[in-house]
Amino acid sequence: MSNDVVLRTRGLTKRFGKRRAVDGLDLEVRRGQVFGFLGPNGAGKTTTIRMLVGLVRPNDGDAELFGVSIRRRRLEALQRVGAMVETPAFYDHLSGQRNLELLSALSGGATRGRIRETLRIVGLFGRERDKVGTYSHGMKQRLGLAHALLPHPELLILDEPATGLDPEGLREVRDLIGRLGSEGLTIFLSSHLLHEVEQTCTHVGIIREGRLVASGSVAELLGGEKQTATVVVDDPQRAADVLGDQPFVTVAALGDGRLRVVGDPDRLADANALLVSQGLRVSAIIPERTSLEEMYLRIASGEGSG
Ligand code: ATP
Repeated sequence: MSNDVVLRTRGLTKRFGKRRAVDGLDLEVRRGQVFGFLGPNGAGKTTTIRMLVGLVRPNDGDAELFGVSIRRRRLEALQRVGAMVETPAFYDHLSGQRNLELLSALSGGATRGRIRETLRIVGLFGRERDKVGTYSHGMKQRLGLAHALLPHPELLILDEPATGLDPEGLREVRDLIGRLGSEGLTIFLSSHLLHEVEQTCTHVGIIREGRLVASGSVAELLGGEKQTATVVVDDPQRAADVLGDQPFVTVAALGDGRLRVVGDPDRLADANALLVSQGLRVSAIIPERTSLEEMYLRIASGEGSG
């Protein structure tokens, strides 16, 4: 196994009665990736994560964390992992700091210094002595993340960390995950919030009916798509004629002094150069980004998943 691979599943399968919640899943997450695990309700995300952290036993296949089998050497496999699988049940009448002290005592303990350090990392320092009952949902999520960070993990596994958050809470958690990722922590998170994943993650895997139907870097997954762009140019009709002869771009519409084109995203610069070389004055080429959401919706519904 390459040292780079932090998390790998092979043929991971979980059946509940006759239903295959997770069906021969092959996943690979490499060091430094922020990997978004996407899928519609009931696709098998939580069951996968529960298998990864040893809460559910697979029927078939295996998962390796840092090359160690979760089936055969669970405790060793989880040694370098921090996880937030369900929103942790905190005691509302105790402070954030006290909650972490109690929770960490159950899982091997952490020094007071480390507890304060993680509170600082998640931006709760200053509020650490306030009762958790006074925390917003976003603050509770961040306290959960602080708990997951206590053991200095190299891999963070988060099940739906953004669920139920208001826009401010979303931003707090998104910023935190982005910061942890940019500091080199490998993060595997499930989500159905596509926009969040698009903004936070470097890589994405899409699961449907327990199977992986697409995976790759966000750039790769979007890169395979055709790009639509609006071209603002002084003579749109002549620009349409110039571009109309080119194989790499199609003129989609003309109007309002603008031109809409569809083509290979890497070739938009060529279209620009060509227009300029023909004496046209291009004041803007505005890409209409194909969002991960559009792609996800197509894949999740079964269309174009091949
Ligand atoms: P959601 O986004 O709704 O949380 P999910 O992708 O996390 O969905 P899972 O919770 O993993 O999906 O569920 C996958 C399938 O397995 C669903 O059909 C679900 O009903 C079923 N399932 C999950 N846990 C159990 C269980 N303990 N007993 C029976 N069926 C289960």
